[in-house]
Amino acid sequence: MSSEKVYEIAILGRAVWQLHSLNNEGTVGNVTEPRNVRIVDPNTKKAVTTDGVSGEMLKHIHTEIMWTLAEKKNLCDACKILNPEKFNFVIKKKKIKVNDVESALQEALKLCDICDVHGFLIEKPTVSRKSTVEFGWALGIPEVYRDIHTHARHAPGEKGKTKSENQKDGDEEDKGGVSTQMVYHRPTRSGVYAVISVFQPWRIGLNEARPDKYTYDVGDEIRKRRYELALKTYQLMFTRPEGAMTTTRLPHVEDFSGVIVYSTKPLPVPVISPLKDGYISDIKEITNNMCNDTDGKCLKIIEFSNIVEFVSSINNLIGSEPYKMELGE
Ligand SMILES: [Zn+2]
Repeated sequence: MSSEKVYEIAILGRAVWQLHSLNNEGTVGNVTEPRNVRIVDPNTKKAVTTDGVSGEMLKHIHTEIMWTLAEKKNLCDACKILNPEKFNFVIKKKKIKVNDVESALQEALKLCDICDVHGFLIEKPTVSRKSTVEFGWALGIPEVYRDIHTHARHAPGEKGKTKSENQKDGDEEDKGGVSTQMVYHRPTRSGVYAVISVFQPWRIGLNEARPDKYTYDVGDEIRKRRYELALKTYQLMFTRPEGAMTTTRLPHVEDFSGVIVYSTKPLPVPVISPLKDGYISDIKEITNNMCNDTDGKCLKIIEFSNIVEFVSSINNLIGSEPYKMELGE
């Protein structure tokens, strides 16, 4: 397996998270609303409202863990401190001068593990580097249990005075009185979530801005390092998801089961939603019927029945190499 070249990887699975609040709609007054999404339940074909954790949130979790694992000398000045502007910030601050789109992309790819893997936008010159890591919404497989909990926070203030009275006084500071209570409502959810993600190792370090060729701006060693880093990050994000409200609603991570599909030749991997019962057998059928070359199969699967097997399955892939496709003179 160590000599295998990996073109694309899809991670399709069902994650069990209990009493979490990883993603919310926002707060109105003192009530925080959970994320609601409308979907068609593939098993009953009925429209249902369920719980979701957005792809943006999952990508954010992946970025933060990648930052934790990365050697900081391998990051640009923006990503060193998780500035969401990424390489755009470096250009804006004129820390690096670039003349055109090709060289802007080249500098970013050479300099930064996170910019390369997670993509970025630059305003001047206008450059869009598409992420090599993609996430769909994590969707609660109906039925997710949802609750709104009421909490009281003790805030310093004058005895008998409400918060609005304090505000009228133009003073929210401690007045040395007996503490007042502020009631607020926070949601939690427990359920099984369908997760889909695609990782494109073949694009690591690839400068797609050149009009006449596809070439890599970093060597094989750096491409391999970024490939390993992205995969190790996947291991951690399912063993330790960090999203919203983890200060008091750190998710009880229970399990993650599913399938990893990967291609060893240029072939987009199939993505079948784990919302659907029987998605694993669908994936198996598809891989059996596709890409049966004379020199073997180029679409492979690793099934994992729990979180421990998921981590070791990713370890198997870490031993492989990112696929390389150089075209043009
Ligand atoms: Zn960066």
